[in-house]
Amino acid sequence: MTSDLETNEFLTMTGTAMAPEAVPGGMPQAVFHEYGRLAIAEAGFGGPGELESPFAAPELEGAPSLTEELGRLAFDYRNMPAQRAAKLDRAYQGESWEGAGAGGPGPIHPPGDELVLDAGTEQAGGPEAGAEPPLSARLKGRVAVGLVIVEGPQQHLKFSAQDQTLVVSEVQNGLSYLASEAPNRDVTFVHEISVLSVNAAEVVNGTTYEQFEAPWRDAALKQLGMPKGLAGAERYARSLRQKLATDWAYVAFFTKYRLKHFAYANLRGPRLVMHFDNDGWGSNQIDRVFAHETGHIFQAPDEYAGANCNCGGSWGIFGAPNSNCALCAPNGGVKCIMKSNDWQMCDATRKHLGYSEAPGGAQSVLS
Ligand SMILES: [Zn+2]
Repeated sequence: MTSDLETNEFLTMTGTAMAPEAVPGGMPQAVFHEYGRLAIAEAGFGGPGELESPFAAPELEGAPSLTEELGRLAFDYRNMPAQRAAKLDRAYQGESWEGAGAGGPGPIHPPGDELVLDAGTEQAGGPEAGAEPPLSARLKGRVAVGLVIVEGPQQHLKFSAQDQTLVVSEVQNGLSYLASEAPNRDVTFVHEISVLSVNAAEVVNGTTYEQFEAPWRDAALKQLGMPKGLAGAERYARSLRQKLATDWAYVAFFTKYRLKHFAYANLRGPRLVMHFDNDGWGSNQIDRVFAHETGHIFQAPDEYAGANCNCGGSWGIFGAPNSNCALCAPNGGVKCIMKSNDWQMCDATRKHLGYSEAPGGAQSVLS
C-alpha cells in the first residue's frame, strides 16, 4: 500500500522501470509517473501491503533537476508512516463535493459555475476541422503534466520547501489514483515542475476568474517563454507534449494568490488552477481535488447534486451519458471521485475519462 491507495509503488529509473529485474521477485505492472530520470512504477503483485516501499532508491549521476528532486521528495513524503496515517483518517471523508455546509469546506465549484470554464475552442464532438489536435482526448498512454507553482513577493504568497514537497506529493497521490484505476494500467504521467517567483500585484477585489488569475499567471507564462492568457497555457501544454514525447498534456497552476475560487479547470484543458489552501478541505487533501479537476481536463462531468447535473449528455471519447449524476441515478448513484471525497470511481466516469477497457469489461484488474 502506498499512502492510502491500494497500490504498491516503488521508485526506480525511467527507461528500465518495466524490466523484470526492477522488482525483486516480481514483475512491474505499470509506470505511473516519470520525473526526469526517475520513475514511479507499480509492482502490482502480492496484493496491498505486502511490498515495503520504497525498497531500492536509485542513485542519479550528477545533480538532480528540480523535477527529479521534488518527485523523489514527494514519493518519500507519501511513504512516511505519519503521512499515510493522516491520509487514512481524512477530514470530510465521503462528503459530497457540494461541501459540508456551515463550518465545513465549501463546494468544489461555486453554484452555477460547474463546467462553465470551457476554453471555448472546441465543441463537444471534438476540435473544429483544421484546429490543433486535442490535448486531452482520453486518459490512455502518456500524459505530460506541467506543474507550475507560482509564488509572489510577499511572505504570504511564498512556497516553502515543505509547501513545494506537499504540493508535488498531493499531485502524485491524486494521479497515482487515476493511473491505478486504468483497467489496462496504461496511463503514465510525465511531470515537468517549475517553481516561479513573480512580482505581480495580488488582486483582492476582482469579480471574474480571469481578473484574479491573469496577473500572476501571465507573469509566470512569460518566464516560461509563453504568450499570456489561456493561449499561452495551451502553447505551454503543446510544447511539453512535444518535449516529453507524450500523447496528451495539461498545465496545473498552484498559487497562494487570491483566486475567485480555490479550484477550477477547463473541460478538455488546457489548464487547471488550485489554491494551496484548498479551501476547508485542506492542503493535505489536494490529492482528491486534483484528481477531480484532472477528471474535467479529460472530459468527465460533475456528478454531485449541487452541480445540477443530469443523467444525459455525451461525454468523453465514448460519448457516454452522465448516468451516475446524484440527482437522477438510481438511489443517488454510487460513490465516485467526480461526486464526493472518496477514492472510488464509477463506471460512468471510467467511460468519460476514456480509459482503455480491460478484456472482459471495464472493471479495474486490482479490485
Ligand atoms: Zn468538478
